[in-house]
Amino acid sequence: EDFDCPAAVTDGAYWLPFSANRRMKANPAPRIIARAKGPYYYTEAGEELFDTLSGLWCTPLGHGHPRIVEALKTQAETLDYCTAFQVTNPVTVRLAGRIAERAPQGLNHVFFANSGSESVDTALKIALGYHRLRGEGNRFRMIGREKGYHGVGFGGMSVGGIVPNRKMFASGMIPGVDHMRHTHDPAHMAFSRGQPTWGADRADDLERLVALHDASTIAAVIVEPMQGSSGVIVPPVGYLQRLREICTRHGILLIFDEVITGFGRMGANFAAERFGVTPDMIVFAKAITNGVVPMGGVIVSDEIYNTFMAGPPNAIEFCHGYTYSGHPLAAAVAHAVLDVMEEDAVLERVRTLEPVLEEAVHALRGLNLVSDIRNIGLAAAIDVVPVDGAPGARGLSIFEKGLESGLLLRCTGDTIAFGPPFISTPEQIHAMVDGVRRLIQAAD
Ligand code: PMP
Repeated sequence: EDFDCPAAVTDGAYWLPFSANRRMKANPAPRIIARAKGPYYYTEAGEELFDTLSGLWCTPLGHGHPRIVEALKTQAETLDYCTAFQVTNPVTVRLAGRIAERAPQGLNHVFFANSGSESVDTALKIALGYHRLRGEGNRFRMIGREKGYHGVGFGGMSVGGIVPNRKMFASGMIPGVDHMRHTHDPAHMAFSRGQPTWGADRADDLERLVALHDASTIAAVIVEPMQGSSGVIVPPVGYLQRLREICTRHGILLIFDEVITGFGRMGANFAAERFGVTPDMIVFAKAITNGVVPMGGVIVSDEIYNTFMAGPPNAIEFCHGYTYSGHPLAAAVAHAVLDVMEEDAVLERVRTLEPVLEEAVHALRGLNLVSDIRNIGLAAAIDVVPVDGAPGARGLSIFEKGLESGLLLRCTGDTIAFGPPFISTPEQIHAMVDGVRRLIQAAD
């Protein structure tokens, strides 16, 4: 009973992601989450915290969803594990079909992994293997977007552009994988609502890189259609189309990392559908299992799949797969998620909530400390002006005060991101943004 959880973390066996132990030590009152229900977390002390980012964008249907819990229990009693290496199981096979049905035309094949990072690295490896099988083995370079986040696998981390990762490379702490370059994107969208109508020409930087490195050395371009981790950076109208066009012209594969945007966040099954651009591969994770159990994967085009399945007779085997690829528990949960999305018309609900969130966040324009506001789908971000000489300090302080006022916020640096659960009510969305308004005003 007298177990002291924060002390056990700072002094004990559990090394938290991103070494958060050190920050927890500095925090006088770290929150210990005891349970969760719907869009709320509850601390050991009994405080209720609204889940403003749906976990880490991964629990859009809310916590403890009865139909999902039931599916998990039933599957655990029926078939709790099954290797995917020599045999398979009907739950996972059916799931692949259901996912492919929702994907853009021509993307009909699903390779399962267990996280965003694994799925990104899977897609990058598939891209390399594809070119090799086609006799274009010199295509080994990957291109990502500045400020992109593609997880922490060696490939995804190398091709990503967020500052902490770049610092690890620059310092030599982690060498990363060679030959990754970045295109440049606008950081600020000048309070644009939804997609900015300017900025599509930023895609032309890809053309510059292609000329610089020679198209015949480039395997793939990977982008988040909407960049999540760097603060809801919304693609300008026409930007993704232009990337598609440049890639197609040069025989480069286009990969959409839809780990955040996949399965509803954009009011569509995929951002590809919302923005009307079909990539060669879609990477997904997070929402497919509503955060209950890990699952991720890659949806692959017919062209890529057929190339691997045909292979030259003496092709090197594409040796890739995980012990937990297509785990039946995860697959059962994913079925339940898709069922709930259909039965409760969740995509329609997201489309109804989008203007609610848009109105709410843009009403904060004019506050002294607010320097930009962006939104698309059920995602939004507010940039606050940093404290002089201490970037991130204001964001951190808003995060901590948020806990005291019933909000579990996601502040990265001085950007506050919102990705509320799809099951939120308009009232809960207004309450969340009003709460942040008060926090920003109090910080002024
Ligand atoms: N890609 C994107 C776009 C992400 O947002 C994330 C996680 N935030 C990842 C990849 C990595 O996913 P995971 O943490 O499940 O490895």
